[in-house]
Amino acid sequence: MEAESARQIWETALGELEIQVSKHNFQTWLKKTSGIHYQDGQFTVGVPNTFIAEYLDRNQRSLIEKTLMGISGRSVRVLFQVDGAGPDPAGPGGPEPRLKINTALFNANYTLDSFVTGSSNRLAYSAALSVVENPGQAYNPLFICGGAGLGKTHLLHAIGHLALAKHLEVHYVSGEQFTNDFVLALKERQTEGFRHKYRNVDMLMIDDIHFISGKAQTEECLFHTFNELHNKNRQIVVTSDRPPKSISRLAERLRSRFEWGLVADIQPPDFATRLAILQTKARQRGEDIAADALEFIAQQIQQNVRELEGNLNRVIAYARILRAQATPALAAKALENLADKAPHHGTTITPALLVDTVARSFEISPTDLRGPKRDKETALARQVAIYLMYEALSCSLSQIGKEVGGRNPSTVRHACEKIAAELNASPYLKRKVSDIQEHILSS
Ligand code: ADP
Ligand code: MG
Repeated sequence: MEAESARQIWETALGELEIQVSKHNFQTWLKKTSGIHYQDGQFTVGVPNTFIAEYLDRNQRSLIEKTLMGISGRSVRVLFQVDGAGPDPAGPGGPEPRLKINTALFNANYTLDSFVTGSSNRLAYSAALSVVENPGQAYNPLFICGGAGLGKTHLLHAIGHLALAKHLEVHYVSGEQFTNDFVLALKERQTEGFRHKYRNVDMLMIDDIHFISGKAQTEECLFHTFNELHNKNRQIVVTSDRPPKSISRLAERLRSRFEWGLVADIQPPDFATRLAILQTKARQRGEDIAADALEFIAQQIQQNVRELEGNLNRVIAYARILRAQATPALAAKALENLADKAPHHGTTITPALLVDTVARSFEISPTDLRGPKRDKETALARQVAIYLMYEALSCSLSQIGKEVGGRNPSTVRHACEKIAAELNASPYLKRKVSDIQEHILSS
């Protein structure tokens, strides 16, 4: 009985998730999942492998929990469980489980193919390629450095994917994890296990190594780890936000080790590279955006690819909400409030706030918007609120239904479709929605 209802609830949830995430995302991560068990607010989702479990856990947990909550009407905690139905990615009798866990650490989008090169990063890119082709031989260590958001982690993951494909045993950690791991090993007197884990791999990758700077014992430990791996011709790849000589407090002998191989530095990309990156990212999302709009976005941000991508996402969302083509003018509008505001600290827009804003814009009361009235103006306001909750806040259909006074999901879906269609036909409605959107963005 419980299994039966878990299955049904999950079917419904998948139906809602399918329209909330991109097609590619759904196919890759959600399609092969199943509802296994539901009891006491805990929902177990079956997934084909640990890779997918880790991805969903990290990136989609809150969306999934929100969706399940909308359906079941109570708070739900979700658990991802490998259901063993799918093939084992390591193959029968494959290597120890550690390798599988490491696989999960590499972001599927961070590949060498999707890394756009230009004069600012070509050295690091070629070095990454050489390291994969001749591990332990080409450059050892490879030290990649550059400012935040310039693609260091991306390159490291790209190396990781290819190294795993060559069946190398790879260990990937951040400087912080390495430190924590070491401290824990000391505390629990497990240093032997620690040694084994770090000194028997074909390739050790440490992201953001600057973190360990000044932590004398960890540096010492890394120094010995480094020597042993290097002596055995095992590949070491590290990244840092600055070159070895600028990491203050990094013990001299460790610093000189880092300079033994190749120090490849990544600079901020020039305009042409930024444009090419935007084209790649837009294509990855299946979005077709006019070249002049991408040029506009590329002009706004020079120092950080992560922020460049953030702006692209914002323009895409804005265009989608308005059902409009992304032109430079639209991009300017989507990005204009960012200039004088801290980019990542905007206020959270709640459904309730959205309902209030829409009601005010239509000069009706929020109570009427949520209530039974069905005159033309009230109905339109209600539908616009529904549409924006769906498109701008990614609320689930059932959650939206509750926010507008307990309407059922099919009414909600109908309202979304109706407004989407009307936006194409009515300049009045388009301006109204644009005004509301702007009001919310600047609140
Ligand atoms: P870092 O580790 O240097 O702070 P990341 O590797 O996390 O930066 O990169 C931030 C974002 O920018 C990622 O989404 C990454 O895919 C993207 N990115 C950076 N450089 C490039 C590039 N040359 N080509 C494609 N994407 C890039
Ligand atoms: Mg990084």
